[in-house]
Amino acid sequence: YPPERIRNFSIIAHVDHGKSTLADRLLELTGTIKKGHGQPQYLDKLQVERERGITVKAQTATMFYRRIINSSDIHNEEQSDYLLNLIDTPGHVDFSYEVSRSLAACQGALLVVDAAQGVQAQTVANFYLAFESNLTIIPVINKIDQPTADPDRVKAQLKSLFDIDAEDALLTSAKTGQGLEHVLPAVIERIPSPPGKCDLPLRMLLLDSYYDEYKGVICHVAVVDGTLRKGDKIASAATNQAYEALDVGIMHPELTPTGILFTGQVGYVVSGIRSTKEARVGDTLYHARSIVEPLPGFKPAKHMVFSGLYPADGSDFEALNHAIERLTCNDASVSITKESSTALGMGFRCGFLGLLHMDVFHQRLEQEYGARIISTIPTVPYIFEYSDGSKVQVQNPATLASNPGKRVTACWEPSVIATIIIPSEYVGPVITLCSERRGEQLEYSFIDSQRAFMKYRLPLREIVVDFYNELKSITSGYASFDYEDADYQTSDLVKLDILLNGQPVDAMATIVHQLKAQRIGRELVDRLKKFIDRQMFEITIQAAIGSKVIARETISAMRKNVLAKCYGGDVTRKKKLLEKQKEGKKRMKRVGSVDIPQEAFHELLKVS
Ligand code: GDP
Ligand code: MG
Repeated sequence: YPPERIRNFSIIAHVDHGKSTLADRLLELTGTIKKGHGQPQYLDKLQVERERGITVKAQTATMFYRRIINSSDIHNEEQSDYLLNLIDTPGHVDFSYEVSRSLAACQGALLVVDAAQGVQAQTVANFYLAFESNLTIIPVINKIDQPTADPDRVKAQLKSLFDIDAEDALLTSAKTGQGLEHVLPAVIERIPSPPGKCDLPLRMLLLDSYYDEYKGVICHVAVVDGTLRKGDKIASAATNQAYEALDVGIMHPELTPTGILFTGQVGYVVSGIRSTKEARVGDTLYHARSIVEPLPGFKPAKHMVFSGLYPADGSDFEALNHAIERLTCNDASVSITKESSTALGMGFRCGFLGLLHMDVFHQRLEQEYGARIISTIPTVPYIFEYSDGSKVQVQNPATLASNPGKRVTACWEPSVIATIIIPSEYVGPVITLCSERRGEQLEYSFIDSQRAFMKYRLPLREIVVDFYNELKSITSGYASFDYEDADYQTSDLVKLDILLNGQPVDAMATIVHQLKAQRIGRELVDRLKKFIDRQMFEITIQAAIGSKVIARETISAMRKNVLAKCYGGDVTRKKKLLEKQKEGKKRMKRVGSVDIPQEAFHELLKVS
């Protein structure tokens, strides 16, 4: 397949508008997967994705498509074969880094919009990602089978927001199959073929990688120029390491060896890279000893939320370290540094793109790598200035200096610009919510007679915890929301400590806005009280700012121990109880003298 016969495109849309289902239909249409076999949303392979019904990882599939053009003379029918690479992308705002990386391998995108819901916040965000990458955009109005579908309204929205002409839009139902026959011909006609040159030295962009037990690290690559053959010696521009291409092929949709990848193709290469640190997403790979200009690569990921990650059982540190190394290979957007806590021992400070991203990372560690973890209260990266003139970014509240020689003289918190699209009757409650969250309105307009479009500047801290859920609940689920990071704003921040029996627990410290400290302190103490069991002695739980206690609870001592209930006689019962006690202990973390169950840490995450 010469580049003229290749098309690389991705599918972008707001969550639930039908990207993954449309991808399924296109895979079926081209015989890449069998109809009715396989599971729906075929490309959502991860357990998290299936459980949550969302796409987290972009996935590539190569399809072969024969196009038959009937000219007026029936004996003169033209056939041409095309190789199409389809990349399904996540829709949630936390994963837009995944989307922007996928777009680097594409020349076009299908912008899918639900015919009933119309343009939503992530439709806007994804449109601009694709537009800025100079991709050809094919608007696809999907779910036209729904009784409430109103394609004309969506067309008008596309025109007014993106200047997309109504006649460019394709109308489809990924459910009934209506209109699908026009999708691939439009891809071929409208999307340009990849611009690379076959006769230039090999250059490949490393798109993604993951660890396979048997093969080692598998790299997904886009061949920009030249040709890659099995057995070629290749080198990395980032590390200067050289490797041999042991296996080369395409995702069709499973790994299918072809022994060769031509200019413009997207495929995989196994090169005996063992350590995941060597496979850097965004790296350029080329033929060893040839001299090439590295490709532009990717913008580094911006970490919005940080939290500590500790093994639930102190001895598992090495196992957790190993699991994290493997998983970060498949999720290059997490930042990891080692840290230690007096309460929890050795662990890691992790930076995430958002709370959903954090959640998904935790779930994947547990499901795919069997790790058992404790996570500390997430925080956003604040900046503090001290009396000695030094300025630091604080990713771990515990490290905020509290010695009197180093007073805090100023602080800043990160903010975001949020886009909110809602039916106009919900404007009032949304404005109230945003001002409770310390937001500042920047724009307020209407995209048509029924939908309002608002832009707000909001402190990042206020949206990472539970903002979206709350927004959904006050708008009966109709709000859509997206954000991009903006600059730092001065703020009035304090460190809130949690003390157990008078001892501050470093892993429970948080940084909060002055005005919210009282309420958050109270809520943290209440939650801890609910989740810490009575023990042999009295436990006091306090929230404090500096030396000032702002909330306090006590848990009274337990009188009887477990065995007191057995009247000495029944040995098996005694054994059972002891076992049960042991099991219960395993999920405990001892902090000072107090046993804290793992769930207590989980509960603290939910306080906003
Ligand atoms: P994604 O989040 O954009 O990948 O969306 P999915 O492909 O996971 O689809 C979300 C939901 O919409 C699923 O329940 C699909 O079955 C449903 N869906 C997708 N396409 C259509 C369609 O054309 N018509 C109808 N009625 N439902 C659809
Ligand atoms: Mg999906």
